[in-house]
Amino acid sequence: MNKDIYDVLKKYFGYSSFKEKQEGIINSILSKNDTLGILPTGGGKSICYQIPALILDGITLVVSPLISLMQDQVDTLNSLDIPSVYINSTLSFNDIMNVYECINDGDYKIIYVTPERFESIEFIERIKSKNIAQIAIDEAHCISQWGHDFRKSYLNIPKFINSLQNRPIISAFTATATPKVQKDIIKNLNFSPNIFISGFDRKNLKFSIVKGVNSLSYIKKYLKEHKNEGGIIYASTRKEVDSIFSELLERKYQVGKYHAGMSDKERQKNQNDFINDKVNIMVATNAFGMGIDKSNVRFVIHNNLAKDLESYYQEAGRAGRDGLDAHCILIFNPKDIKTQRYFIENNEFESSENIIKIKYEKLSAIVNYCHTSKCIRSYILEYFGDKKIDNCNNCSNCLDDGEVEDITIEAQKIISCVYRTKQKFGINMIVAILAGSKNKNILKWNLNEVSTYALMKDYSQKAIRALIDLLVGDDFLEVTSGEYPVLKFTNKAMDFLKNKETLTRKVTKIDKKVNYEWSACFETLRKFRYEIASKEGKPSYTVFSDKTLHEICKYLPKNKEEMLNIHGIGEKKFDKYGDLFIEVIKEI
Ligand code: ADP
Repeated sequence: MNKDIYDVLKKYFGYSSFKEKQEGIINSILSKNDTLGILPTGGGKSICYQIPALILDGITLVVSPLISLMQDQVDTLNSLDIPSVYINSTLSFNDIMNVYECINDGDYKIIYVTPERFESIEFIERIKSKNIAQIAIDEAHCISQWGHDFRKSYLNIPKFINSLQNRPIISAFTATATPKVQKDIIKNLNFSPNIFISGFDRKNLKFSIVKGVNSLSYIKKYLKEHKNEGGIIYASTRKEVDSIFSELLERKYQVGKYHAGMSDKERQKNQNDFINDKVNIMVATNAFGMGIDKSNVRFVIHNNLAKDLESYYQEAGRAGRDGLDAHCILIFNPKDIKTQRYFIENNEFESSENIIKIKYEKLSAIVNYCHTSKCIRSYILEYFGDKKIDNCNNCSNCLDDGEVEDITIEAQKIISCVYRTKQKFGINMIVAILAGSKNKNILKWNLNEVSTYALMKDYSQKAIRALIDLLVGDDFLEVTSGEYPVLKFTNKAMDFLKNKETLTRKVTKIDKKVNYEWSACFETLRKFRYEIASKEGKPSYTVFSDKTLHEICKYLPKNKEEMLNIHGIGEKKFDKYGDLFIEVIKEI
C-alpha cells in the first residue's frame, strides 16, 4: 500500500478508501507508465489523474471536451487548495493571456483544455516549453469513430504529444468503451498503456423497461409516487420536452426544461437551478447532461428510445452518482424506432455509408435491449464486453414482481412460419401471415396457402409483433440489415425446436419503490447545505454530497475527529464547513 496516495486521498478529498481500480491506475501513472482507465460513470475517474497530478513534479494537462464540466472541476479543485485553471472558448483573449502569465510563474498544478486548443499555435508554443508531467485525456472514446461521440479534434492530441521534447506520461479515461473502441483508442493515441477496466456494473442503479403505457400518464404516476425525489426526464424532441414540461408545471412540480431551441442564457439558468436543487426535475433533450456532475439524481426516465446503448448508459448513468439507490427507466414505444431511423438517415454531418451502417447496428442493439426477456443489466454489461449475470435481482426482468406466462407454443408457431416461408420476409409480413391477414401482398404471393397461415388468428397483430420482438431480443430470430430487412432464424431457434424446450416471459409490474431513505434529519441538513451553497454561489453538492449528509444523519458526529470519519469529509472540507455543520447537528 502506497501511504502517500492514501494521505492525499484523505487530506484533499476526504475519502479513506479507493474505488475499484483507482489505486492501480494511480500507482501505474506514478510509476511513469502510460495508462488507460475504463471506469463507469461515477466510478471516480477524475481522482485517478488528480492525485498523480498532486504528487508528480510538473504540470498535468487535462483534455476534456466538456466545457461546463471543466468549470465545475476547476472550482472544486481550487476549493480544495489544488491550484487549477481552464483554457477554453469561454475565456476572452485577455483572460487567456493572463492564464499564460500565471503558467509561466508556475502557479498551476492542473490545467484543463479542450481538444480544439491543440489547433492553436499560440497555445502549443507557450505550453511546449513547460514541464508537463502528465497529459490526462478524459472521454477518450471521442478519438474513435466507433465511439458514439467521435470528435475529430482529438486526433490532434497524439500530434501534440509527438512534438514534445520530453514525452509526458499519458493517461486516458472513458466510461463506455466496447472492446472495438478500446482498440481504437490505443491505436489512435499510438501508445501501449497499462489497461485497467473496472466492471461496468452500477449496482445501485435499478434498470426498468416499460412497454405498452401512455408515457405521460406513466411519468405523472411515477412522480406522484416518488414525491421527494429529483431526477431527469429525457425526451427525443423539443416538442415533447415542452409538452411534458407544461404538464408537470401545471401540476405544480418544481420542474425545469432544457433543449437546443432555448437561448443560451435560459438554458444556463435552468441548468444551474437544477444543479443547485432549486428545481428537482429536469425535462430535457439529450443535449442536457454532458458534464453535469450532480450526485443526487434519484431517477432518469427516458420518455423515448435513446439512439444507442452507449448514449443510454451514459444518460441513465447520471442517476445515483452518490452511490445511493436510483432508478433508470426506459419507456419503450415502437414509433421511436422510426424517429431514430429518421435521425440516422438525415444527419448531414455523418452520411458515410460505413457510419450509417454502424449506427443501424447500434440502434438494433438498443431495440433488442428493450425486448429481451433476460436480465437487462447483463445485456448492457455483455454489450460492453463485461461479465454475464444470470439474475441481478435489480432490473425489471429479474425482479420477482411479475407473473410468468408460457409462450412455448407461440414461439414454435412463429419460428415455423419463418422456416416455412424460407426466411424471405420481414417482420410485418410474418405478422400478417400468422394473423391470417388478407392484405393484397398476401394474396398476390399466395401466402394464404402456406401451412402456417392464420395459425395465430386469435392474437392481435400487435401481440404477435411483441412476441417476435422478444424472439429477436433473445437471439432466436435475427433481422438482417439493409434496405429490406428480412427475418431469419438462428441456431438457437433450431435447438429450441429440436429439443422441445420451453420458453416463458415475464408480465412485469415495475413500480416497486427503490429502497431509499428520506429522513427529517436529512431534510434539515439539505436545507442548511443549500443556504451555504447559495451564499457561496456554488452548487449544493460541492459543499457536501447526499451520501455525506446521510452518513452525518446516521452517526451524528459532534466534533472534528468524528466528522473526519464521515465519507467525503477531509481536512480541507472540515476547515470550511465542519464547525458550521456541528452547530446544526447539535440542534437535531
Ligand atoms: P466519473 O468521472 O468517473 O464519472 P467522478 O470522478 O466525477 O466520476 O467521481 C464520481 C463521484 O465519486 C464524485 O463525487 C467523487 O468525489 C466520488 N469519488 C471518487 N473517488 C472516490 C473514493 N475513492 N471514495 C469515495 N468517493 C469517491
